[in-house]
Amino acid sequence: MDSPIHFAQGMPTIDQIPVQKLVAPAVVVDVIAAAAKARDYLISARDLRAWETKNGAIPAGSIVIFRTGWGKYYPDRKQYLGSDVPGDIEHLHFPGLAKDTAELLVQRKIDGVGIDTASMDCGPSKDFIVHQVLNKAGIYGLENVANVEKLPVKGATLIALPMKIEAGTGGPVRIVALLP
Ligand SMILES: [Zn+2]
Repeated sequence: MDSPIHFAQGMPTIDQIPVQKLVAPAVVVDVIAAAAKARDYLISARDLRAWETKNGAIPAGSIVIFRTGWGKYYPDRKQYLGSDVPGDIEHLHFPGLAKDTAELLVQRKIDGVGIDTASMDCGPSKDFIVHQVLNKAGIYGLENVANVEKLPVKGATLIALPMKIEAGTGGPVRIVALLP
């Protein structure tokens, strides 16, 4: 879990996120088909709006999980990250969110974002703009989320309780889903 202070000064550290924000309805946005065709696929606001057309508006206070299909590659570094050379950040390739998606999620007043890749920003990102936009709005991130293929597109409740590390900018988190 990335706490909001990860990329935004003055925002909550991992031990300061209220538990009310850590137990929340899950919205699952599936982009497996698009990501299979492009390793650096940017999940766009259009993908989010398509979800809303089918399922209704993304509720305030939810945790929005992006399902790219990348979870099946873990822990194969070459497949999962794009490179298996330790410390090689020049050849990272995996899907992530576009800036307009982050901005729309801020408008929807969600509590957290999750993804089944190593980062909310796509592999080649250098400015980590998605982290910046979300964290500045007090939204936390869940990365390397496992088993997202077992979640329904809506109706599940997530319980995501991080280790309560004093002043931590992030930390390990055990995520449990209650299925409808
Ligand atoms: Zn992160």
